[in-house]
Amino acid sequence: MFCFLDMDGVIADFVGGCCRAHNRPSPYIDSKSFGIFELEALFGISASEFWQPCEGEAFWDDLDKMPDADEIVSLATITFGVQNVAILTAPSMSPYCVPGKRRWIRRHFPQFSDQMIFTGAKRFLAGPDRVLIDDRSRNIADFRQAGGIAITVPRLWNDFHLFAGCVTGVLSTALAHMTAERLTERTQAHSTSNVT
Ligand SMILES: [Mg+2]
Repeated sequence: MFCFLDMDGVIADFVGGCCRAHNRPSPYIDSKSFGIFELEALFGISASEFWQPCEGEAFWDDLDKMPDADEIVSLATITFGVQNVAILTAPSMSPYCVPGKRRWIRRHFPQFSDQMIFTGAKRFLAGPDRVLIDDRSRNIADFRQAGGIAITVPRLWNDFHLFAGCVTGVLSTALAHMTAERLTERTQAHSTSNVT
């Protein structure tokens, strides 16, 4: 199986970087913002105003790691094997985004230096043996609809915000459940193929 691990909001602190770039506090200190993904809406500004201070390579390269990033990466690599995990991340419109993200991944998670995929069209990578770990509800829905397996990382900005305080517990349970389902399917397929 292949596992695709999202970057922004999963292992990189995109929200924190945006708040720093805009010199604003996190909108998620207010529970009324929970479950709302679009930061520009929460900031009350246009998309172009939102992206303007986030355009340079340094913006992407300077993002902090999410506090639970190492645990999330460990869970993915233990479950799938490091050779089967890739970072799958959507670039912004800025030409400096991909170079900045590439530098960030090489510095923080060098095991993925040759396993980075840059596209916002994540559903094209979906399939029965493909698992997406992502924080955006729309990506999860699109990936599932295209035939893939998708696991939501609970964050304050998505539908699973109530579980944002126990990300690794939710993720490890979802991965264990998925692995058990796969084993059951294989066992059933094996016993069916042995019936003469
Ligand atoms: Mg994300």
